[in-house]
Amino acid sequence: MLFEQLGLIEPILKAIKKEGYTQPTPIQVQSIPIVLAGKDLLGCAQTGTGKTAAFAIPILQQLYKTRSGVEGGYKHIRALILTPTRELASQIDESFEAYGRFTGLKHDVIFGGVPQHRQTIALRNGTDVLIATPGRLLDLMNQGYIYLDHLEIFVLDEADRMLDMGFINDIKKVVRELPQQRQTLFFSATMPPNIAKLAGSLLYNPEKVEI
Ligand code: AMP
Repeated sequence: MLFEQLGLIEPILKAIKKEGYTQPTPIQVQSIPIVLAGKDLLGCAQTGTGKTAAFAIPILQQLYKTRSGVEGGYKHIRALILTPTRELASQIDESFEAYGRFTGLKHDVIFGGVPQHRQTIALRNGTDVLIATPGRLLDLMNQGYIYLDHLEIFVLDEADRMLDMGFINDIKKVVRELPQQRQTLFFSATMPPNIAKLAGSLLYNPEKVEI
């Protein structure tokens, strides 16, 4: 299987080539068409499988295809990636930079443990994709720096780790602020009953992918 066979557009294919990837990984082969079709996804996959590109690539393509054409100025947040740790958030941000370099789409990352000032300055100009850890996201939402009422795509990454780290209530608070009508992608390395229950409450008619 080649990336060209997954229905990807030129600015994305060019970026993938620049990364030196020759073939999509199994989770990418399975997930990319589902996300491009606008469907919800329940993915059981570990880090290291190419999971980040499996959601970042089709999200960038969807946002690019329906972009407004307005460069700069105020933008609504169109995709939110929620992930448990600062390290994961930074890695996901780098992936959006790499795969989105020819799309002109903007991405920003926020996480706790550092002063919020730089993050709020960056957010002031608006962003297409926001990558966040739950605590800092809620904090900035409560302060009125972030509105998610135009969100189109929501990704919950490493859901099992999120719950292990005690983020369940934070996740629920964030989800309450999201539009009902949206696309949701849910990833977890394991799928015990409490995770399956959370997935069931967030996803609508999901396609399942297991690696
Ligand atoms: P992840 O599972 O998202 O943490 O990705 C693990 C690593 O695989 C990252 O360093 C990616 O840059 C790399 N990677 C992702 N997709 C591919 C691919 N199709 N070909 C080669 N490397 C890849």
